[in-house]
Amino acid sequence: MRARVDPTRCQGYALCVEVAPKHFTFDDWGFVQAVQIDADGEHLATVTKAIDRCPIKAIRWIGSPPTAAVVDPETDEPVRPV
Ligand code: SF4
Repeated sequence: MRARVDPTRCQGYALCVEVAPKHFTFDDWGFVQAVQIDADGEHLATVTKAIDRCPIKAIRWIGSPPTAAVVDPETDEPVRPV
């Protein structure tokens, strides 16, 4: 998954930087940019939290957003989409 900050919407509240400092930082002009846009595995939850905290929804997933994990009730293993 990849995340992107929309520079035309970002107001610099910095909540995303506080929540996910490895993924978001300020550029030289004080606007936030996504520095590590790949957010898989352990980083997925952190970036999702940053996206949720942005008060003006300036961060979005590129491509499809993550979906809730579907678990096979018999094996209790995650089911991968086909
Ligand atoms: S939380 Fe949203 S508005 Fe605030 S700096 Fe991050 S992207 Fe910009």
